[in-house]
Parts: sequence; structure tokens; C-alpha cells
Amino acid sequence: MALERTLSIIKPDATKRNLTGKINAKFEEAGLRIVAQKRIHLTKAQVGKFYEVHAERPFYDELCDFMASEPVVVQVLEGEGAIAKNREVMGATNPADAAPGTIRAEFAQSVGENSVHGSDAPETAAAEIAYFFSGLELVG
Ligand code: ADP
Ligand code: MG
Repeated sequence: MALERTLSIIKPDATKRNLTGKINAKFEEAGLRIVAQKRIHLTKAQVGKFYEVHAERPFYDELCDFMASEPVVVQVLEGEGAIAKNREVMGATNPADAAPGTIRAEFAQSVGENSVHGSDAPETAAAEIAYFFSGLELVG
């Protein structure tokens, strides 16, 4: 399996409840290295562009408001098969379906306020990392 990098976001419901450290511990216990990280407060327009792929979905406006409501922590996770591994550690989108021990099973509040984002493929990971970080900010 190849060494990969993926974009992760700790969402407002989690930063608000002071869960950044507990969520980062889940990544590190799974062997994912946090090679870049910053706390930022996104504007609704910045979120809208990031989630452009969901623009036609009924929850898009609510999702953009939520993601701009409080600070988020954006980060790059690195490891063997990091994209799929992170999706495993995150758990299913709806916390009701998330496997025990996953971040969403333990921390998510609803299908919308589900604590974390993770890239879903190599192409989206590269584009999402470039949206938030310059090459100089990635220190493996
Ligand atoms: P994932 O984050 O697991 O990749 P999606 O890409 O399908 O899930 O959706 C992006 C985000 O949109 C979800 O993480 C969640 O915050 C929100 N979302 C997805 N489905 C719903 C829904 N049915 N109602 C409200 N928000 C949703
Ligand atoms: Mg997704």
C-alpha cells in the first residue's frame, strides 16, 4: 500500500465541545500522522466552494451555515493507505450507522453535525489539501 495524504477537518460541533485532542488521538492511534494543522474560521463563501460538489443537495445551505458557524481545524493526515484508513476511523456519515469506536460513533451529534470531514479519493484529497495548505506548510 502506498504512502498517502488526506485532508481532514474537525468540524464546528467538535471544536465547540473541545474535542480536538480526543479526535487527534484517534488518528494517531490508527497510525495516521498529522503533518499539517491549523485552526481557522471559514466564511460561508469559503465553505460553499469547498463543498461545491454537494451544491444541488437539499442540505447544502444548512451544511455551509454549520461549517461557517464556529472555527474548524483543518489538517493533513499521512500514512499507508491514509485516505481509506481515515474514512474507517471516521465511521459512517450518519452516526447511527457508524461502527463502535469510530469518531462519529463516539462524538457526532447528527448526520449533519458529524464532527469530521475526510477526503474520499486520491483526486479529491489532492484538491482539498491544495485548497487549504501550501507545499511549504506540509512537513512529513
Ligand atoms: P461524508 O462526510 O461522510 O463524506 P457526504 O460527502 O455524503 O458525507 O456529505 C458531506 C457532509 O454533508 C456530511 O459529512 C454531513 O455533514 C452533511 N450531510 C450529508 N448528508 C446529510 C443529510 N442527509 N442531512 C444533513 N447533512 C448531511
Ligand atoms: Mg464526502
